[in-house]
Amino acid sequence: MSAKLLELIKDKIRANGPMDLGAYMELCLGHPEHGYYMTRDPFGKDGDFTTAPEVSQLFGEMVGAWLSDLWIKMGSPADVLLVECGPGRGTLMADIMRATKGVPGFHEAVRVYLMEMSPVLRGIQSEKLAIYEPHWIDDLSQLPATSPVLLVGNEFLDALPVRQLVRTNGEWIERGVSIGGDERLCLTDLPVDASLLEGVPKPILTSGEDGTFETSRVLNQFLKSVDILLKKQKGVALFADYGHERSAMGETLQCVKSHKFAGLFDTPGSCDITAHVDFENIANLATADGLAAHGPVTQGAFLKALGIEARAERLWAVANEAQKESISTGLNRLIDTDQMGALFKVLAICHDPSIRPEGFDEVL
Ligand code: SAH
Repeated sequence: MSAKLLELIKDKIRANGPMDLGAYMELCLGHPEHGYYMTRDPFGKDGDFTTAPEVSQLFGEMVGAWLSDLWIKMGSPADVLLVECGPGRGTLMADIMRATKGVPGFHEAVRVYLMEMSPVLRGIQSEKLAIYEPHWIDDLSQLPATSPVLLVGNEFLDALPVRQLVRTNGEWIERGVSIGGDERLCLTDLPVDASLLEGVPKPILTSGEDGTFETSRVLNQFLKSVDILLKKQKGVALFADYGHERSAMGETLQCVKSHKFAGLFDTPGSCDITAHVDFENIANLATADGLAAHGPVTQGAFLKALGIEARAERLWAVANEAQKESISTGLNRLIDTDQMGALFKVLAICHDPSIRPEGFDEVL
């Protein structure tokens, strides 16, 4: 599989010259035939990595409680689009729906939409979520154009392709991918596109500090489409991902295979590639678009504020020994600061500044 993708990438470079890292990442993850997500179910112990909803049902239960609370705060609209971007195995959506069964009117009001590019994962989602009759979309423009929206994305933004701008002794270049003398893929310098530099935050541009700045046009365009949707149709978006609360220099692009780090060029198409999310950028884009941004807060603080510990205790009280063990381990993985509790952050965007979403009181 990946040998074919490697040849295909090399052919492209031979034909068009070196490509930027974003183009490389996009091919590795999303090439229609050989892309990482397009060809497999990467999650869990036997896969390459595990995400919060796969760690414990508690995560989806808290997100479900949060979303239904927001729906009530929005005046319980009779028709609302519940949209998940990058739903993976469909576990988060299944837990959200199960946790909100008892919220009067919520299930009657929601229509479930899944934005998913992978045919393999669409198949798994359709099995798990069949009773909720979900609709699949390729991008947000395919959503019905009038109803309000509850949108959620867990570890979705980190999968969008990033580009790296590198400043050395005050001079910027863009990092690209080329073919070395040994016929292997290698890093190369590309001239930097002025419009990309314009997107670098002022404090970083003027600091003169040497280092790498990661930026993503695809992510910024996606967020723009979220902001437009929320402005036009009203609603809220909740993003959870690993990342930093302030825009900063730093190289975070990483490849993971079988729960271990891998090299960027080791096996294109058969390892996951992600980059940390710049949450300040998301909040700035939202406020510039006239929306209210809440957070980021750490995932641990968010989940604790929503009562994850009390919920775990209730589950624990009626669990057998094996279940007790998995409830405690799951809870700790989600909230402990040396596990997912601090590196992962949560941010919400809402059309209405007077709505106060729960869980965002932590000051970072
Ligand atoms: N949210 C899930 C899966 C996270 S992995 C979880 O927490 O377990 C990233 C998910 O985003 C996968 O489902 C992948 O196929 C999907 N994805 C990545 N890029 C995408 C894109 N551009 N459009 C739609 N889905 C995408």
